[in-house]
Amino acid sequence: MFTAEMARQWIKESAKKIESNKEQLTDLDQVLGDGDHGLNMTRGFKAAVEQLNEETDEPGKVLKAVGTSLLSKIGGASGPLYGTLFMKAENQLEGTEVQISDLSSSLRVGVDGMKKRGKAEREEKTMVDLLEPVIELMEEKGNELTPAHLIDKAKEALEHVKEYEAKKGRAAYYKEKSKGKQDAGAQSSYYLIESLATVLDKDGEA
Ligand code: ADP
Ligand code: MG
Repeated sequence: MFTAEMARQWIKESAKKIESNKEQLTDLDQVLGDGDHGLNMTRGFKAAVEQLNEETDEPGKVLKAVGTSLLSKIGGASGPLYGTLFMKAENQLEGTEVQISDLSSSLRVGVDGMKKRGKAEREEKTMVDLLEPVIELMEEKGNELTPAHLIDKAKEALEHVKEYEAKKGRAAYYKEKSKGKQDAGAQSSYYLIESLATVLDKDGEA
């Protein structure tokens, strides 16, 4: 099961991780961008937590509200992209009886929306390179997904994204020189996945 409470915990945990790694996200974005990613993400997730729908027992409604907060508060390139990831959830996750496999389908639609919005494909050194492989694995594992699956795949993806040449956003300006440097958005996406793993782990049945 993936409950509304788990969705809320996911966002609270993400906000905590992002806040405690704000400097790192800023530093990464300083190297290949304009150095605002830590601030953007901290502001966005703070707003998402403040505006969390605490009443509903429908996970789709929780995530939709998160998408709206991120869209309006993150700013930068990453605001609409992360917003899109969560916004689509409501259409996919109807009602209160939601399985992990439903969450995976929802995130699939979300990441497809993100790719469309950013005109981004794989191996262009963006958050897509972190999220899509993880979501693929989620789809593959279905309700057998474990927190360790998530962490292992996210770590692997993070290593790969570092080696790609940036093709999108400000980082694309650095061309070849971007190789070997980590992408700020992929790093923040890693924290989202790590947080999801924590929540599934607590649930004990993921
Ligand atoms: P900005 O680039 O406007 O300063 P942020 O610093 O908050 O916004 O976010 C930068 C991150 O957004 C990058 O590290 C990258 O992962 C992601 N990104 C930028 N452009 C795109 C795009 N077109 N598609 C997907 N992700 C993108
Ligand atoms: Mg930036």
